Amino acid sequence: MSAGRLEGKVCVITGGGSGIGRASALLFAREGGCIVVADVDRAGADETVKQIRADGGEANTVIADVADPAAAQRLADDTAKAEGRIDVLFNNAGIAGVGTVHETSTELWDKVMAVNVRGVFLVSKFVVPHMIEKKRGSIINMSSTIAEIGLAQRASYAASKGAILALTRAMQVDYAPFGIRVNALLPGTIATPFVEKYLRESYPNREEGLKAIRKRQLTSELGKPEDVASAALFLASDESSFVMGTGLFVDGGVRGGK
Ligand code: NAP
Repeated sequence: MSAGRLEGKVCVITGGGSGIGRASALLFAREGGCIVVADVDRAGADETVKQIRADGGEANTVIADVADPAAAQRLADDTAKAEGRIDVLFNNAGIAGVGTVHETSTELWDKVMAVNVRGVFLVSKFVVPHMIEKKRGSIINMSSTIAEIGLAQRASYAASKGAILALTRAMQVDYAPFGIRVNALLPGTIATPFVEKYLRESYPNREEGLKAIRKRQLTSELGKPEDVASAALFLASDESSFVMGTGLFVDGGVRGGK
């Protein structure tokens, strides 16, 4: 049997207890990675770990709110201590925010920024020193196609994902001298619990929402978590060693025009 594409790599995946994070955790583990599933949702994270172990893979749960500095530092330092290093960080955890600017409460704005931007900053802040020590690492930051296109009712969310794209480029410049690659993923609409919530909050009924989403893609089906997981695997693995500071769209052709 040939070696997996992440053989022996220690991979931290935030938001690994659901949707894209879980699909990535399962795929990374199948490719030989040792997975740290970090999430606020213990039941979801434990289920991901259970599925990985049932498949013969290696994984552990760490309960961590990425927006909490102490939790982010614990996640990084405890993982590095237990596993000896951190090779891959997938900053995937994120939450939705629905509303125009004038409809968005200050509390919702702050919450979306806290998880989606501060969370990426904090976990990276505490993981990067361990990568610098080993002079290698791959960081994948979760942005969204919404960073590049305008969509209705998504002010706080769009702002947070645009910030992630800019942060990714800045981080890449700073950390290239240390052998660390930093890239972003920009998914379109992917069928996960997150999108189910968005459909409930944004449309009078689910079918109408799905119709609107399909209309903006070049394909009729929504993306699957596994579609994004495959792209994340590429960025995590050494196959993408010349890919730096970029954003990879996985969006069913949303920007392709119709
Ligand atoms: P999901 O199914 O809701 O999974 C996200 C996971 O992150 C959940 O387990 C969630 O826990 C956890 N989480 C939330 N806040 C957290 C925090 N502060 N610290 C640690 N974990 C936290 O979402 P998804 O659709 O897989 O999305 C994953 C990422 O992709 C997000 O960053 C999202 O913005 C991005 N994205 C998604 C889509 C899409 O169409 N699905 C498109 C573009 C980008 P709870 O369930 O308890 O909140």
